Amino acid sequence: MPDDSTDGFVRVRGAGEHNLRHVDVDIPRDAMVAFTGVSGSGKSSLAFGTLYAEAQRRYFESVAPYARRLLQQVGAPHVQEITGLPPAVALQQRRGAPSSRSTVGTLTTLSNLLRMLYSRAGSYPPGAGRLEAEAFSPNTVAGACPRCQGLGVVHDVAEDLLVPDPSLSIRDGAIAAWPGAWQGANLRSIVTGLGIDVDKPWRELSKKDRDWLLYTDEQPSVLIAPEPGRIDHGYYGKFWSARKHIRHVLADSKSQRMRERAMRFVRSMPCPECHGSRIRPEALEVTFAGRSIAEVNAMPLTDVAALLRPVADLPDAGAATPSAGSGEATEVAVRISADLVGRIDVLLDLGLGYLSLGRPSTTLSPGEAQRLRIATQLRSGLFGVVYVLDEPSAGLHPADAAPLLDVLDRLKASGNSLFVVEHDLDVVRRADWVVDIGPGAGALGGRVLYSGPVAGLEDVEESATSRYLFGRAEPLEHRTRTAQGWLHLRGVSRHNLRDVSVDIPLRVLTAVTGVSGSGKSTLVTQVLAEAVGRHLGHTPEDQDDADLQVDLREASGLEAFDRLVLVDQRPIGRTPRSNLATYTGMFDAVRRVYAATEEARARGYGASRFSFNVPEGRCETCQGEGFVAVELLFLPGTYAPCPTCHGARYNAETLEVTYRGKTIADVLAMPVDDAAAFLADVPAAARSLETLRDVGLGYLRLGQPATELSGGEAQRIKLATELQRARRGHALYLLDEPTAGLHPADITLLLRQLHRLVDAGNTVVLVEHDLDTIASADWVIDLGPGGGDAGGRVVATGTPAEVAQAPASATAPYLARRLT
Ligand code: ADP
Ligand code: ADP
Ligand code: ZN
Ligand code: ZN
Repeated sequence: MPDDSTDGFVRVRGAGEHNLRHVDVDIPRDAMVAFTGVSGSGKSSLAFGTLYAEAQRRYFESVAPYARRLLQQVGAPHVQEITGLPPAVALQQRRGAPSSRSTVGTLTTLSNLLRMLYSRAGSYPPGAGRLEAEAFSPNTVAGACPRCQGLGVVHDVAEDLLVPDPSLSIRDGAIAAWPGAWQGANLRSIVTGLGIDVDKPWRELSKKDRDWLLYTDEQPSVLIAPEPGRIDHGYYGKFWSARKHIRHVLADSKSQRMRERAMRFVRSMPCPECHGSRIRPEALEVTFAGRSIAEVNAMPLTDVAALLRPVADLPDAGAATPSAGSGEATEVAVRISADLVGRIDVLLDLGLGYLSLGRPSTTLSPGEAQRLRIATQLRSGLFGVVYVLDEPSAGLHPADAAPLLDVLDRLKASGNSLFVVEHDLDVVRRADWVVDIGPGAGALGGRVLYSGPVAGLEDVEESATSRYLFGRAEPLEHRTRTAQGWLHLRGVSRHNLRDVSVDIPLRVLTAVTGVSGSGKSTLVTQVLAEAVGRHLGHTPEDQDDADLQVDLREASGLEAFDRLVLVDQRPIGRTPRSNLATYTGMFDAVRRVYAATEEARARGYGASRFSFNVPEGRCETCQGEGFVAVELLFLPGTYAPCPTCHGARYNAETLEVTYRGKTIADVLAMPVDDAAAFLADVPAAARSLETLRDVGLGYLRLGQPATELSGGEAQRIKLATELQRARRGHALYLLDEPTAGLHPADITLLLRQLHRLVDAGNTVVLVEHDLDTIASADWVIDLGPGGGDAGGRVVATGTPAEVAQAPASATAPYLARRLT
């Protein structure tokens, strides 16, 4: 329970987490509160690092007093006092890798209900006994398909791979998968001994013989006669079908080369038993409203709601009793269906009707995943809690943002508080209260500039948020450009794109727009990136077979580019050992500076000594990580500063070497802004630092671990690294929502850099929702009109002004309003 919950405010006193400067602020409960400010100003440090962290800490103390000591080790947030703080739930845009078995259905818990519906109210085949709910889940032993263990795919040899040329005879090598040389000759003799003609073309053999040769598990032994003129007595040879041979190599061969060769004959394919649904066959025979649970899992949510709504609306179901075969018209069926429909309706409201329950969560965008979690919370029945949200509107088309805000309003109406870190000014305008932090980033921020109802922010001169919110910011001006040639894609088909044709103008900035699920990422970051990448001879990495299918009928104009740069939001590294300084390459220059000092030369320390990855230089306790893992209850990945080096990462000897009074650990702790002054006369470092400041990252510390960076920060680091290279030639830059997570002031900075790239003769294509960014583009390609099957078409193309007038476009009305 909240402590002194009487006056309706959470009162924070003396908050000093990260860059916060002894912040005192009162924040109303039962309201929607927006936390605003430029990137790095301290919004997350207050909302997540202080308020949520403190609520979390109190919760753990109350449930597990013995955790206190460990919690002390990890550290409580730096704050003197917080009163009136209710329990908190964080809905962050987590970017970690979710388990490959989690799906939209499991994430929203809708799968549990659906299984109950099939178990209790489904129609069973005659004579079948009722199944438990678990039997409908691919993630339980009871329900998983035994053939594929609930994975939905099997890896198996395929005839077209085993026998690439069916006009060949066995003697001429029709079965490409069989070994060559002596073993191959041996197999031919055995086959002959079995009475199969090895000189007939493969395609003329009987189907029965072909299947047997390729797939049988039988291994008959055949006496092989000695070759003429030899004196031995022959020997017994054992038959291996092609499949058996390949499996044997994959399971037992020590030779990596042999295994790689064998993999060429193997393909992953939908499981023949469950057809990819991952569920055991008995469960698939049970139907509801004429559909199996696998069919329902594969349907868009819109269709699932339509299927169940008639049942949910049945008026007098109470009378029906379940028969042995079916419970479809019973009270249970009505109740569960109504519950399902009610929950799915929330997802439809949020514009997620194009998703299916079976969609793996690994393929969801962070914005989609967060909306699913928000919708799930709405039904959780919690009240009196604070929901702390990280940019709920990120990645949303303006048409999708409005229903999301309605859902947030409903969470508030059921008695909760909403603390929202947000940049989208339309969301900020709807808040009851705004806490604006700034004025700048890092050391230049960390103060509360304003806390109160939104209108009052207008008078706060030093607030960047105020300038943009109340229209005092200078618009970004640039000359309008026209295409210098075109790239044509014809017949693009993937996901919901079906036989789409698009033309992309060269040497201009293009924004690809459309509601969530309309196909923007599929077009830009997949098809376009692959087409250009393949032309440039890139080999696609970590893509599964499905993505390698050529689903582009024709492309022209690809030769215009000599480079492809995909600037995405994926982390710049997955371990804390990679950081800003190592990623940009500037750390090499810094280490050389230290190695060149008199002290280092006297001691014989080379540049490598100043790497925290090298045993000589690093702290041994933490192996140069700067922190150690703490086993804390069931909370994975909790870390405490290293007790030996206190986070410095180096051993004491290394830290005895200083340059202008600073150790190398001090340099890693510096924000980019400070380092730019400190390293001004080290050209290789100064150039990197300058470009980082240009994209608004002056507040990041050089040693900030890759794992601590948001997706948007990682993306801007990649962009800065690109800018610093300043190469000649014509590059294609592809960016997926570069403005997500950015304050309008930071967006202006970023846009200036992107336009600079175009002015230097490059082509830039953005997937984008931000209206100011779209308005500043030279060209717009609008996809839609809806999401999923309702989208996937090019609705409008042209200059922003032209697209703003397009009749069927969901983007047009918003863009038109912005352009006036
Ligand atoms: P915002 O949410 O406004 O973008 P943050 O609260 O994330 O800003 O960051 C505020 C400041 O605190 C920045 O200077 C940032 O570099 C710093 N900071 C963020 N996380 C950490 C951390 N784990 N350790 C030290 N400093 C941090
Ligand atoms: P946008 O970028 O416009 O939000 P996407 O390109 O991500 O849209 O998605 C377009 C359509 O393709 C949607 O219906 C989405 O559900 C579907 N889709 C996207 N990724 C996958 C995937 N990995 N597997 C199956 N369907 C996908
Ligand atoms: Zn299966
Ligand atoms: Zn250490």
